[in-house]
Amino acid sequence: MSLQKNQDIQLNIEGYTAEGNGVGHYNGQAVFVSGAAKGDTIIAHIIKAKKTYAIGIIKQILKKSQDRIDVDCPHFRSCGGCAYRHISYDAEKQLKKQKVVDAFTRLAHLDVKVNDIITCKTERYRNKAQYPVGFEKGIVAGFYAQKSHRIINSSDCVLQPEEFANIVEIVKNWMTEFGISAYDSVNHTGLVRHIYIRKAFVTGQIMVCLVINGDEIPKSHELVDDLLRIDGLKSVVININKEKTNVILGLECKTLWGEDYIEDVLCGVKIRLSPLSFYQVNHDCAELLYNKASEYVGATGNETVLDLYCGAGTIGLSMANKVKKVIGVEIIPEAIEDAKVNAKNNNIENCEFYCGDAKDAVKILKDKNIEPDAVILDPPRKGCDKEVLEYVAEMKPKKIVYVSCDVSTQARDCAILKELGYETKEVTPVDMFPCTSHTESVALLIKNTKEE
Ligand code: SAH
Repeated sequence: MSLQKNQDIQLNIEGYTAEGNGVGHYNGQAVFVSGAAKGDTIIAHIIKAKKTYAIGIIKQILKKSQDRIDVDCPHFRSCGGCAYRHISYDAEKQLKKQKVVDAFTRLAHLDVKVNDIITCKTERYRNKAQYPVGFEKGIVAGFYAQKSHRIINSSDCVLQPEEFANIVEIVKNWMTEFGISAYDSVNHTGLVRHIYIRKAFVTGQIMVCLVINGDEIPKSHELVDDLLRIDGLKSVVININKEKTNVILGLECKTLWGEDYIEDVLCGVKIRLSPLSFYQVNHDCAELLYNKASEYVGATGNETVLDLYCGAGTIGLSMANKVKKVIGVEIIPEAIEDAKVNAKNNNIENCEFYCGDAKDAVKILKDKNIEPDAVILDPPRKGCDKEVLEYVAEMKPKKIVYVSCDVSTQARDCAILKELGYETKEVTPVDMFPCTSHTESVALLIKNTKEE
């Protein structure tokens, strides 16, 4: 008989879901339990029962997993940020590697060598944070409680730099002092929606951006005066978002003080960061990822490299001095502008950047008989359009280096590339987002020469 709501069952936790919940089986039915660790034996209280699976909460832990550690954050599990603060980092590394192995073997049916996960620092690694702002007796800012729009008032987070908490407090005090309203997402009223902060880890430069439901903010001089207490402050910006939407940033930014951007250094390349440009959230780990991508390209100095989904050009620019030429393609115009400025500021002359959809651009390049030696793919979560993979294969690069923040779509695309003549040689997971359920991975694919 399948499980019923409110039933209490004994359960052994065998592993984790992609979101980081513990999973066990009861009479063949999968049961997902938030906060459970692989190796736990628990009494689970069933709160939702479906035909094929059930969801439980921990009622009692009968036997603790060896991987368990003390949880050091009071907001763990109410906040959707961290999935793994209750298990050791060794256990986390292991399960993330396993997630990559499972995606390639079980989902994509590819027999691939998966290396150990590359790691870096596990605390205060994020260079960007977005705090929702609201009103509840007073101004609150922090993070949304899981699956809700209630804001939990908390400015510090161990994944973020310490200055971010001070900035959030300054903005909250300024709002309270001058009676500046917080956005109310239900009624679509009020002004300040989010406090969005970026820090360039190498230069120490900081950008503070207030996302507002309006065109301007009152008392902006007072805000800037207060923010000047923050070391490294380089830019204060407002971002205008008057839409009734969950999307955080609008398309228009206005600079209130300082520069329109901040500058960081990544793999020795100076990078200009506009508020809207994509930038990897974990600087040190991004360098390790790019070094691995560069190793996979195996540059000798004669290669033409096509960097698809290039953002502000960072991957291609980081290997520009090792190859003959880089061609970058990206859909966001501002990111392409940043890429061109980044090339110029670093006196890099062998990189060209084009704005467009990867699938159109790659077709144009193919029709022009461009034959890159290596193609780098770094698409968003949904992976590559099939046409992109087909056109890339028709260009016959010797290597494809596939960087991804979603291993399931990466594995799916590697299976498609296998049909198109590319063998996935190895995959390296990279822990870009420690303590969260997300994993980055980079795969090396080599053209199958036997078929020719
Ligand atoms: N390689 C960059 C950015 C990776 S994020 C880095 O490492 O920083 C993925 C990028 O793909 C984003 O910049 C996004 O704007 C871009 N993108 C999304 N869809 C695209 C498409 N259809 N064609 C080209 N670029 C696209």
